Amino acid sequence: MEANHIHRALFGHDAPEEVHRQYASALEAAPLADWPRINLERLIELGADLEALELALRRSRRRNALTQRFQVLCYLAEVRPDNFGRFVNGRCRWPAGWLILSLHLLRSLYKLGKGRRLILAAGALNTAKIVLRSNDDHVTTLPLLDSNRSSIPLVDPWSIGAALARSVYSAAMLRAVYAGEKLPGPVHMAVYAGNGTLCSDYLFDFPLSARGNIAAAKYLTPALLLVQLSYPDAPTPTNHLRLLPDDRLELRYASKPASPLESHVLGLFRELGYLGALGLCRCLTPGNSCRYAGALLMTATPVRRYQTDRHGLLSGTHDVYVADAANFTVLPSTSHSFTMMANAMRIADHVGRTLG
Ligand SMILES: Cc1cc2nc3c(=O)[nH]c(=O)nc-3n(C[C@H](O)[C@H](O)[C@H](O)COP(=O)(O)OP(=O)(O)OC[C@H]3O[C@@H](n4cnc5c(N)ncnc54)[C@H](O)[C@@H]3O)c2cc1C
Repeated sequence: MEANHIHRALFGHDAPEEVHRQYASALEAAPLADWPRINLERLIELGADLEALELALRRSRRRNALTQRFQVLCYLAEVRPDNFGRFVNGRCRWPAGWLILSLHLLRSLYKLGKGRRLILAAGALNTAKIVLRSNDDHVTTLPLLDSNRSSIPLVDPWSIGAALARSVYSAAMLRAVYAGEKLPGPVHMAVYAGNGTLCSDYLFDFPLSARGNIAAAKYLTPALLLVQLSYPDAPTPTNHLRLLPDDRLELRYASKPASPLESHVLGLFRELGYLGALGLCRCLTPGNSCRYAGALLMTATPVRRYQTDRHGLLSGTHDVYVADAANFTVLPSTSHSFTMMANAMRIADHVGRTLG
């Protein structure tokens, strides 16, 4: 696949079978410099412009792994008789020479402009890792934000033994925002009925024998309601990430303090006839939310290393932009995917404008 994409970037069409084989054995015989910071396979999958990337990388680092790969493919292509005309000018054509070189000069400028703007959006944690690795920095710690959630199971005693309502929407049935005192910000509440999951998912959380658990699932599930509370997060010195010397990312997140809100929500639902107990509430342990942010915080005037400006431009660089949640200064309590998309589109628009 790699040989094909490089061949296409060089000559505009797929590589012949023989070139594939020779390319693979050339890489095996003389392993090239490690591809240190970017996953080439993934870039190909994402449809990156390899020619633009190679040119931009060559300008910053002459012997980089992508240039080496392009060079191997050029060697293989040049020795093929059918490519003779591509590399050697057999007869005098100086006007064509001038014209073609001028066109390629313009094309190279375009490709350089395209490749010179690197937009990093590899996911908040991966983006932070790529930036730290690019700086060979195994010392700096960067802020880590992680979505904070708790789940409260409730039972409506009058619905025990009722038939399961099949017409109920199985995703969140109700969403509400709580903005009370002594909370770091608005808290999101989602209410789910118990009919959206397989009984087997939670069957063995009932404290009965196996057959008793199956009966509990059948008669208790219609009476169950699950309330999920999502809290916002902001940088604190205890929660951070760091690149270890072996290139693994170390994530440190102090356990989250219990919130006073659970007992308040239990009280509110008790008034509606639902029973629950604080001891049955479960909080997600850090690292389990699948929603992360922080690390390369966006600020109006970046002064420190590893900060980004309002356009996502990474401090200390002229052409590296961060377009995912790594540049979020806070993690909202609600799902942040749409905010992330809007932010990425805004940054991409800006980068597009800088290219003219
Ligand atoms: C099970 C699950 C359920 C979720 N449910 C919700 C939900 O209901 N609502 C919600 O808002 N959010 C949800 N999320 C969170 C949401 O999926 C993430 O916040 C969001 O996908 C992050 O988007 P991103 O583009 O920043 O990163 P990603 O979606 O992770 O995309 C990053 C891309 O970069 C690529 N990449 C990484 N490293 C490299 C590299 N070195 N070189 C080249 N490419 C690289 C990756 O392969 C990937 O394609 C859920 C997450 C999970 C796991």
